Amino acid sequence: MPTLTSVSGFPRIGRDRELKKSIEAYWKGKTGLAEVRAVGKALRAEHWRIQKDAGIDLIPSNDFSYYDQMLDTAILLGAVPQRYKRLAFADDEDTLFAMGRGYQGVQGDVTALPMKKWFTTNYHYLVPEISADTHIQLNSTKPFDEFNEAKALGILTKPVLIGPYTFLKLARNPQAEELEIDRGLINEVASVYAEVLGRFSELGAQWVQFDEPYLALDKEDGDVELFKSLYSIVLRARNRYSEGSAAVKVLLNTYFGHVADIYETLKLLGFDGIGMDFVEGRDENLAALKEYGVSEDTTIFAGVVSGRNIWRNDYADSLGVIDAIRTVTDRVAVGTASSLLHVPFSTQGEDGLNPTVLRHFAFAVEKLTEVKEIASLATATEEDRRGSRELAANQSLFDGTRVVADRQVTERLNKLTESDFTRSPARAIRREAQHEALGLPQLPTTTIGSFPQTGEVRSVRAKLRRGEISQDEYDRFIAGQIDEVIEHQEQIGLDVLVHGEFERNDMVEYFGQHLNGFLFTRNAWVQSYGTRCVKPPIVWGDVSRAEPITVRWSKYAQSRTKHVVKGMLTGPVTILNWSWPREDVSHEVQTRQLALAIRDEVLDLEAAGIKVIQIDEAALREKLPLRRTDWHKKYLDWAVPAFRLVHSGVKPTTQIHTHMCYSEFNDIIKDIDDMDADVISFEASRGDLVVLDAIQEARFETEVGPGVYDIHSPRIPGTQELVERIHAILRKADPDRVWINPDCGLKTRGNDETWPSLEHMVEATRQVRGEL
Ligand code: GLN
Ligand code: ZN
Repeated sequence: MPTLTSVSGFPRIGRDRELKKSIEAYWKGKTGLAEVRAVGKALRAEHWRIQKDAGIDLIPSNDFSYYDQMLDTAILLGAVPQRYKRLAFADDEDTLFAMGRGYQGVQGDVTALPMKKWFTTNYHYLVPEISADTHIQLNSTKPFDEFNEAKALGILTKPVLIGPYTFLKLARNPQAEELEIDRGLINEVASVYAEVLGRFSELGAQWVQFDEPYLALDKEDGDVELFKSLYSIVLRARNRYSEGSAAVKVLLNTYFGHVADIYETLKLLGFDGIGMDFVEGRDENLAALKEYGVSEDTTIFAGVVSGRNIWRNDYADSLGVIDAIRTVTDRVAVGTASSLLHVPFSTQGEDGLNPTVLRHFAFAVEKLTEVKEIASLATATEEDRRGSRELAANQSLFDGTRVVADRQVTERLNKLTESDFTRSPARAIRREAQHEALGLPQLPTTTIGSFPQTGEVRSVRAKLRRGEISQDEYDRFIAGQIDEVIEHQEQIGLDVLVHGEFERNDMVEYFGQHLNGFLFTRNAWVQSYGTRCVKPPIVWGDVSRAEPITVRWSKYAQSRTKHVVKGMLTGPVTILNWSWPREDVSHEVQTRQLALAIRDEVLDLEAAGIKVIQIDEAALREKLPLRRTDWHKKYLDWAVPAFRLVHSGVKPTTQIHTHMCYSEFNDIIKDIDDMDADVISFEASRGDLVVLDAIQEARFETEVGPGVYDIHSPRIPGTQELVERIHAILRKADPDRVWINPDCGLKTRGNDETWPSLEHMVEATRQVRGEL
């Protein structure tokens, strides 16, 4: 019997980001919803077709989304807060967009739901809100519609839903706190999933996949019970449906780590399929299978093709895993380790990369072939494997060394000692010195770095790329933008200015372009949130700084004003986390290489007269292992020192800022303080301010700048609203240690929203200063 192949989920944004373009055109009023729907439908059809042609048996449906699959799940379950319903949109998509990105217009004025990072990825989901008056019930036909749509094309798909456990663990109450999950809620939620299963059984689905990545986290008290309660209801329903003719199978899918601590329970519950990640949770998952075995009626869906990297799969390695599973059970399906949502669409068209390089990469489309080939090899005899051309071709990618090590980089790393990781004098002493040197008011105002990248900025950059303007013309344009933004910031009265980052396409790619060891793609976009996509560069070889990166424009900006201009860098951990890392060298070593490169830049900026330097570690938390027990030894113990290595060489008067794209770091507060920055700004307006309690409690020494308004939304906050926000911050933090700034990412907004918002922010700060 051929081995079953399965894909957990496929990218939905389109080969050329068609969905993004269509939805954004709609938001701008340039097209209608009918067009957006048509684009969505065409993409779904194309994506199913591609998977079918690649020979995938279980092709996902309902992995499509206009904005986010968690948001879809909330809507499916009826968790649409009153404030969005009250907008009374005629079209459901408009309500969905209002929940995703806020809304300000004739129908009303609401902020968006909070957004958080999806486990260890750079994808962001919307946090569902459940309150006492949420009436949980089946509230949408999306999964069924998409299933039928595929069926009409002759493709029997495997519907995919975020499972009830992960949904409830990630949902919050209106105060953004953890939910009280009582019996009633469990029954309501599980009943909807049971109903969904019933509908799919009627529609003729053979498999339904419930994604439960939250199972890869450490279990708290009550978690296992919660899981059991939910799924005993769901599985009882399945048994009922199976008594009729149309049996529907339940695939419990897990990813982003191992589930060894709950595997025995999973086994006993009687799932038809259990999806396990053998890329990120290999050893533990294998050990669990060996220890507890597999029930007779259960198929293990072996996730061996990574949904998180762009490198070709090592077939011999994957076959080793499958052979090991086979010693426990014959029922093995081969699949992706997680959804392919987190990888780019296809390597096709990447003709800027040398074919000898390109052959090492597999994006979503290519990974389908890998799944298929591994599945075929899985059941092949020893002899057939030996004779397999696919296997031999694959093997050749891993024979020998791919790149030659850079001797200089290795030597520099070897020479590092403890003192390279320690800045002196101590922070309290530096603080005095900086106070004197910088002469800033109480509650200094600043922004996080970028200013709107208008159509003009982007088109001028494109012209340079296409050779339609000279480097000189481009540089003059950038200088002009800097002049304007400096003047504007002076005008509205900000204290610490920035140069605006107009020369940067992206905060990681721009740095990568000036570093040795990086490669770039044309079109390898990955969805980050909503319609936003990122195009991470690839770490190919050893990394070092090829030339000064930011000195010129920072120095220029500083020359245009008497105010302090903050230099703006991306930190090593973030560069690595937002790139595609190598797999032949550890993350720790790659991060150190990057740290040394950025350290060179810090010292050059200081020498050029820049007094405040911000080193963004936007993504520091992103790769924090899911299980707390792994946090330190597997990550923080090297990630935090790497940041210190970047700035330990500066003078006491040079003020080092860092920035993070989230405010959930109460649990690693000591580690954040150990980065030894002088100031940290973080995104906070979409979350609560509990981190400030933790900051107080931990005697956090770093000064803090919690974002005072959300920049992901086009709405303009009023002065009074901001005064209240600052009051809320000051109730929890010492006014001598607080900075006032918006959330990060102004580059994604327009000037029309940005400047009035900042004016309100400065005005609000002045009012509050007056009260102190
Ligand atoms: N300095 C960057 C900016 O303002 C930081 C972006 C980010 O935090 N993601 O755009
Ligand atoms: Zn940020």
